[in-house]
Amino acid sequence: MDNNYNKLVNNLEKLNLSTIKSNLDFYIDRYNSKELSFVDTLYELTSLEIKFKKERSDRAVITVAHFPFVKRFEDFDFSFQPEINKDEILDLKYLRFLDNYENLLFIGMPGVGKTHLSVSVGIEAAISGKSTYFISCNDLCLQLKKAKLENRLEQRLKHFSSYGLLIIDEVGYLPMDIEASNLLFQLISKRYEKKSTIVTSNKPLNKWHEIFGDAVLANAILDRLLHHSKVFTINGPSYRTKDYLINNDCTS
Ligand code: ADP
Ligand code: MG
Repeated sequence: MDNNYNKLVNNLEKLNLSTIKSNLDFYIDRYNSKELSFVDTLYELTSLEIKFKKERSDRAVITVAHFPFVKRFEDFDFSFQPEINKDEILDLKYLRFLDNYENLLFIGMPGVGKTHLSVSVGIEAAISGKSTYFISCNDLCLQLKKAKLENRLEQRLKHFSSYGLLIIDEVGYLPMDIEASNLLFQLISKRYEKKSTIVTSNKPLNKWHEIFGDAVLANAILDRLLHHSKVFTINGPSYRTKDYLINNDCTS
């Protein structure tokens, strides 16, 4: 039927306003019964559409960021890690560090929540519109080495330098040869004072020379990472083995 209601539905489809379309009948009824004014009706319908589109784009940027899991600050049990300064961590939500091209370092033993917190910060950055990417240090070095072999190192370095926020996870879990250390140094140098980087590591900073097999390179990397940075050292129990520890407590 060629009436205005049908034409309206058609227009909504053409404009890709699917949420308004699917809520239209309900809101027409509410308007007709004088439950809502004209302005309120339009306002509520457009708000629903915006909410739907924002949620969809949030999901897309979270997928693109390549996080190993999706965990938010709300999912982090601060009472399990009482040595952490909760206010300081929750302040990261405001992403002020990105404006100043500061880096964040999460240091601590396995299972204390380093990856969780870096993902939580990364999600906030991604949904605020920053291009964000998560990668393990090992994968990053493998990719850079491969690019070097294929004579496209500059291109690959440029690619990883372009992210507004790059999360390099698990620095120091596997020993790095001089070539890998050198490539990581080049990337960190390119991002220095231009972009923010988050690094997680199980090695305290004074042991970083052991990771890179070269004290000069270790210092050069740390120098650039630390110059504008916040370091969070998490001293506490592993969340992964918490149930095991609790069980042990019960039996002892
Ligand atoms: P790390 O990177 O320090 O080795 P993860 O961040 O990967 O540890 O944490 C291991 C697992 O335990 C993840 O699933 C993470 O979400 C969870 N986890 C760690 N700490 C906490 C915490 N304090 N509250 C809730 N979950 C946590
Ligand atoms: Mg981890």
